[in-house]
Amino acid sequence: MDLIEPIKKVGLIGGMSSQATGRYYELINQIYNQIAGDHNYPEIISYSVNFQNIDNLLKEDAWEAGSRYLSEKAKLLEQSGADFILMVSNTMHRVADSIQKNISIPFIHIADAVSEKLNDEFVRSIGVLGTLPVMKEDYYKEFYRSRGFEVHVPDEFDQIEVDRIIFDELCKGKVLESSKKKLQEICLKFVQQNTDGILLACTELEMAIQQEDLKQISLFDTMEIHASKAAMLALGRD
Ligand code: GLU
Repeated sequence: MDLIEPIKKVGLIGGMSSQATGRYYELINQIYNQIAGDHNYPEIISYSVNFQNIDNLLKEDAWEAGSRYLSEKAKLLEQSGADFILMVSNTMHRVADSIQKNISIPFIHIADAVSEKLNDEFVRSIGVLGTLPVMKEDYYKEFYRSRGFEVHVPDEFDQIEVDRIIFDELCKGKVLESSKKKLQEICLKFVQQNTDGILLACTELEMAIQQEDLKQISLFDTMEIHASKAAMLALGRD
């Protein structure tokens, strides 16, 4: 018996935010171990960035610079032996294509993982909650429209509020009762629009809104779905 078992190494571009990165780490380990048993855990290499840089880049709409910054981290993960890479932010997937062009290992796109799950659950129309770029700009909606889904977003006023909750509270580890209530109210508007499900398209949103808070509609947590995809890939199943 080999004492050291070679397994696939997960590469994580983390730090966006550190809250979400911790949850990815926990979940990938937990799901992998539930299947592999005993003391088996995945090998994970994480490059956690300074979230202030991401915040600055977003405020300046500096996607080119963001792409260079994150591609550099992806290359370092590849050089360190990662077999595939995930990035823990929906928002920064705007530069997913250019990251993939800079590396020769697979970049596991969050929308690919989530779409698989939505298809398995026969979901066709989704309400999307996330940061302002995710809800307001076209790129994120296009990820799902191009994969055959109908996409709804909150009105402008609610978009600003969801974005504020994410950056001012959740990314700083704060979960306020008032914000939980606000998010539930916004979700209920999607129920009125007859969407099949709601996408928590920000990797911190599960801190403030969970399925047990909202019985009327199915929630799809992009963080959880993406992390379980990573665990499956690390196990050699996909
Ligand atoms: N984690 C977040 C997301 O999933 C937001 C923080 C960021 O801008 O990266 O989009």
